[in-house]
Amino acid sequence: MVASSVLGFPRIGANREVKKAVEAYWAGKISADELTKAAADVKKASWTSLKERGVELIPSGDFTLYDHILDHSAAFNVIPKRYLGHNLSPLDVYFAMGRGRQADGVDVPASEMKKWFDSNYHFVVPEFSEETVFKLNFNKAVEEYNEAKAHGINTRPVVVGPITFLALGKAAKEAKPGFEPISLLHKILPVYKQLLADLKAAGAEWVQVDEPILVLDSAQYYDKQFTLAYSELAPVAPKIMLTTYYGRLDSNLSFVSKLPVAGLHIDLDRASGQLDEVIAAVKPTSIVLSLGLVSGRNIWKTDLEGAIKQGEKAIAALGQDRVVAASSSSLLHTPVTLAAEKVLTAEQKDWLSFALEKAAEISVLASVLSGSQDAKVLEALEANKISIAKRRAFERNSDDAVRKRVASVTPDMFERKSPFSVRKEVQQNHLHLPKFPTTTIGSFPQTKEIRAARAKLTKKEITEAEYEKFIEKEIETVVRFQEQCGLDLLVHGEPERNDMVQYFGERLNGFVFTQNGWVQSYGSRYVRPPIVVSDVSRPSPMTIRWSSFAQSLTNLPMKGMLTGPVTILNWSFPRADISREMQCMQLALALRDEVIDLEKAGIKAVQVDEPALREGLPLRKVDWEPYLNWALPSFKLATAGVSDALQTHSHFCYSDFDDIFPSIQALDADVISIEASKSDMKLLKTFKQYGYSNQIGPGVYDIHSPRVPSEQEIKDRIAAMLEILPDSLLFINPDCGLKTRGWKETEASLANLVAAARWARQTY
Ligand code: GLN
Ligand code: ZN
Repeated sequence: MVASSVLGFPRIGANREVKKAVEAYWAGKISADELTKAAADVKKASWTSLKERGVELIPSGDFTLYDHILDHSAAFNVIPKRYLGHNLSPLDVYFAMGRGRQADGVDVPASEMKKWFDSNYHFVVPEFSEETVFKLNFNKAVEEYNEAKAHGINTRPVVVGPITFLALGKAAKEAKPGFEPISLLHKILPVYKQLLADLKAAGAEWVQVDEPILVLDSAQYYDKQFTLAYSELAPVAPKIMLTTYYGRLDSNLSFVSKLPVAGLHIDLDRASGQLDEVIAAVKPTSIVLSLGLVSGRNIWKTDLEGAIKQGEKAIAALGQDRVVAASSSSLLHTPVTLAAEKVLTAEQKDWLSFALEKAAEISVLASVLSGSQDAKVLEALEANKISIAKRRAFERNSDDAVRKRVASVTPDMFERKSPFSVRKEVQQNHLHLPKFPTTTIGSFPQTKEIRAARAKLTKKEITEAEYEKFIEKEIETVVRFQEQCGLDLLVHGEPERNDMVQYFGERLNGFVFTQNGWVQSYGSRYVRPPIVVSDVSRPSPMTIRWSSFAQSLTNLPMKGMLTGPVTILNWSFPRADISREMQCMQLALALRDEVIDLEKAGIKAVQVDEPALREGLPLRKVDWEPYLNWALPSFKLATAGVSDALQTHSHFCYSDFDDIFPSIQALDADVISIEASKSDMKLLKTFKQYGYSNQIGPGVYDIHSPRVPSEQEIKDRIAAMLEILPDSLLFINPDCGLKTRGWKETEASLANLVAAARWARQTY
C-alpha cells in the first residue's frame, strides 16, 4: 500500500486564532495558559482535519507560536546570553529572541532573521559559539506527539535535522574568528540521540527529519558530517524519513542514498526531473521513497493524472510498500483552506487548492496508487480531471493583445536612449537637484488613521470620494512636511497603498485575491499574496492620479513610485501554466506604460522598487543565470521607455550584493538606493571595486528601529561613504520606506539627515 503524508501544516488556524492569541499575549490581554490553550485547539483542529481527509502520516511538532527554528533553538538551549538573567519566563525568553523586548527595564533587540531558502518565510537565525552547551530544555517532538495521541491521532513527528540546524546558524559575537557552527556536530548529536530515543520510547514509528540544506550546493561539503550524524542517530531513533524540499539533490544524492535511513523524501514539485536518478540510487537499498507530488509552494489544484504517472514509475521500481505520496514540502507556504473564500468565483475556486484541499488530493493519490477501486476515490479522480481540463481551457483563453505585445518586444526597448553619462547631464538640467540630493524611499508613516480610512472604504462606511479627499489631505501633509524639512526630491508618501504588491495587483488585469489566504512571513506577520490567474495588462493608469496631485502641490520635483515586475511576481502566487519569464515580461510592459505616463504627466523621476530581485535567486548557482536572464531585462523593459530626462530610481532592501553585483550594474537605473546602514561600508567597497558608475543612495540610517540617528552620526556616515564614492554620485536617504515608523521619529531623523547633507555640501 502507498501511504499518504503531509510534511507540515500552516500554523495560523483557520480563523487566524494563533496570530490573534499570540498578539493578545504580547499585549498583555491574555495569559500564557490561554495562549497555550488557543494553540492546542488549533493543533487539534489541524490534526483532526488532516485525519478526516484521509492522510495517514500526519505531522506533529511542526507547529510553532513564532518560528520552528526558534523553537528548536529554545529546545536545544541555543539561547544567546543577552536574553537570560532578566527574570523572564521561558516563553518570554523565547519571544524576546524572536522579536526583542523593550519593557520594564529590559531592552534586548531581536535575533537576526533570515529568509527561509527561497521562500518569503523568515526564520530566526541560531547563534552558536564554542561555549554553546546543548541540552534538551524540553522535548517538543515528544510533547506534541503525545498531545496528538491523547486526541487519538497517531502522528509522524517532525524534527529539524542536525546538519541543517547548524548550517543555517551563525557564529555568535563571542565566538573565535573562523568558528564554524558545524564544528559543534559531535556536541549536538548526543542531544539528538536523547530526543529521538525518547520519541521511540513514546511510540513513534517514524520521525521526519528535515534536512532541506541537502538541496543547496553547500551540502556537498557536509557529506562526512551527514554520514557520521545519521550512522549515530539511526540505531536509536524511530524510522527516519530524511526529508529534503524546495529543490533537487543533484550530486548530494551520491552520499544521501548511502545513509542508514529508512526513508527519503524528495520534492517533485520543484524538481520533478530528479525522480529517475533518485529511484535508481535507492533501488538497491531498502529506503522508502516519499514523493513530494503535491506542491507545498503554490495554490493550484494538482493534476492528479500527472502525479499518478510519477507515482507509478516509482512503484514499478520499488513496489507499493516503498512508496509514499506526499506534499512536496510543509504546507506552511499555503493558506489553510479555500472553504472560507467568498469573493472568488466558483470557477476560480475550482482551479485552486489550499492546505486542506491539498491534503485531500494526497490521500486520493495514495489510494489510487494503492490500486483502490473505491467509488469515492474514483469520483474524486474524475472530478479532478474535469477541473484540470476546465483550467486548461481557461488558460488557452490568452489575451491576444498581451501575447502579441510580448512577442513584438524589440531589443531597443530594453535600453535607454543614451548612456548614463549623457542622461546624467540632461537630468541635471531638468531636475536641478543640489549636490548630495536628499530623498526618501517612498512611504511615510502608515498611521492608524490611514488604515482606519481604508477599512471604512472597504466596509463602505465612507464613499470613494470621501476616501480620496482623505488621501489627498495625507499627501498634502507629507509634501508640506518635506518642503519644510528641506528635502530635495519629494515623494507622495504612499498613503493609498495597502501593500506594495497588492496595490498594483488590484489595478492590473490577470490577478485575483483571497479574503483569508494568509501565509506566514515571520512570527505573527502574515501576508495575502495575490494570485496571477491570466495574462497581465494595465486597463488604466495606476498611480498617475496621486503622483500628479502631489506634484501639483509643489515646485520641487516629485518622484513617482512603482513596484517592479520581479518583485510583484515574486511576492504573488504565479500561474503554473506559463513561465515566470512570460509573466514577468507582461508585468514589465504594464509598468512600462505607467512609467511613460508618469513622464507625460510631468513627473521627472520615477522609482521602481525591486526588493525581491535578490531573494528570487534560485537555490543552486547554476540556475542563477537563467533567472537573471529574464529578471534583469524585465526591469529594464519597465524602465527604459522614457526620455533621457527622466531619472529612474530603484530600491533594494538588502546589502548582500557581492555575488550579483554585475546584475545591479546591468539594470542601468540612474539612481539606486540600498540598505547600507547595517552593513558598514563593505557594500560600498564592493561598488567601488566593480567600478559602479551610476548614482547611488546608500541608506544613511536604519529605519527598522524607532531610534533617531544623531546629526553627527549621519555626518560620520556620509564622510565614510565619500572616502569610497565620488561626490557626484552620492544621494542621501534613509535605508528603506518609512511606513512602519511613527511621525515623531521620522521628523527628527529626517531633520538630522537634511542638516548632515547641508554640512556635506559645504564641506566637500
Ligand atoms: N517604496 C517602498 C516604501 O517606501 C519600498 C519598500 C520596500 O522596498 N520594501 O515603502
Ligand atoms: Zn527597502
